[in-house]
Amino acid sequence: MTDAAPPVLSVRELSVAYVAEEGLVRAVDRVSFEVARGEVLGIAGESGCGKSTVAQALLRILPPPAVITGGQVLFEGQDLLLLDEPALRAVRWRRLSMVFQSAMDALNPVLTVGDQLQDTLRAHGVGGAQARARCEELMALVGLPADRLGSWPHQLSGGMRQRIGIALALALEPALVVLDEPTTALDVVVEGEILRQLLALRRSFGFSIIFITHDLTRMLQVCDRVAIFYAGRVVEVAPAAELRAGPRHPYTQGLLAAFPSVHGADGELASIPGSPPSPRSPPPGCRFHPRCAQAVERCRAEEPPLVALGGRHQAACHLVG
Ligand code: SF4
Repeated sequence: MTDAAPPVLSVRELSVAYVAEEGLVRAVDRVSFEVARGEVLGIAGESGCGKSTVAQALLRILPPPAVITGGQVLFEGQDLLLLDEPALRAVRWRRLSMVFQSAMDALNPVLTVGDQLQDTLRAHGVGGAQARARCEELMALVGLPADRLGSWPHQLSGGMRQRIGIALALALEPALVVLDEPTTALDVVVEGEILRQLLALRRSFGFSIIFITHDLTRMLQVCDRVAIFYAGRVVEVAPAAELRAGPRHPYTQGLLAAFPSVHGADGELASIPGSPPSPRSPPPGCRFHPRCAQAVERCRAEEPPLVALGGRHQAACHLVG
């Protein structure tokens, strides 16, 4: 990864809303971030913070009633939000792919693993002997024996199914892979193995990764940089080591204090009081202010912008910067 190279992905002021009876409910509100070539960017936050909505918006696979209401998704120099369906199909999966949360739901239950891999390859112009050879290669890449190409999804364990999801995502050698909580349903040992393997593949092939999870400890282990989401907004972005050593936003501080440390001293885990606001009625000013122990009067009236704090660290809080 080099900072001088243009980013593979640049998301600018992206907004996504759900069409509801009372009007548009903003789930993602003017979110901006970048992913460098070969970088692993983590996106973390509590349930409902908008992280999975952003992932689906990037590939434009948001199910209705969600709609993208503004912004740009600049991927390898073109705005994906402006592409028509055929142009988008040429990019989706070939250059930008995704591993979904639930491998069982993502795989077709009535097709063998080999047929699903071949279908994906065929849809992008790779067929015949070349596709068969690629399938075997992909199985080896994700650590599965080639004879499993004849298996149906229900014959595989959760870990094996998720490896197939990864093989499908890597089938066409994309530049960016979005992992939407890919290991949530797996036990920690299998999860660790799969993530280690993915990182090794990333080092070999140079693709970038967006890794979405609510597990901040795991995220800090595997990501180069982390973006923290709260109530549909980015509240802090920093290199993972910097975020672990010195989170600047009170919400990030609370999140880190709520996760146990394997290496640190024993201590009581803290929790963040209250719950995230409903996107139907976010509080005015800083959206975190009803839960923030450090809130001052200004926080209730004025929304803090995301400001640079030096290096690659940014935070949106009136008390920093
Ligand atoms: Fe807390 Fe105010 Fe900072 Fe928001 S802006 S995180 S309420 S101190």
